[in-house]
Amino acid sequence: MMLIIMGYNVGRLRKRAGVCTMEKVAQRCIVCELERSDGIAICEQFICQRCEQEMVNTDVQDEKYPFFIHQMRRIWLRKDA
Ligand SMILES: [Zn+2]
Repeated sequence: MMLIIMGYNVGRLRKRAGVCTMEKVAQRCIVCELERSDGIAICEQFICQRCEQEMVNTDVQDEKYPFFIHQMRRIWLRKDA
């Protein structure tokens, strides 16, 4: 299953951007808002590995999907700010 967010496929985006191997410094995940050191950065926003996996495995029909969209949208809003 593929997760489409704002027209982007996360898996493809990750490959194209190159996985930003994060330094082992805790950063606040934009999705769960917990500080974690494992994860990826998309558009300079941090998403922890747990949330990334959850998003990738969340079906569009899933009730959690709108929540992820909402959280991800904040990335784009921040980018424009
Ligand atoms: Zn998270």
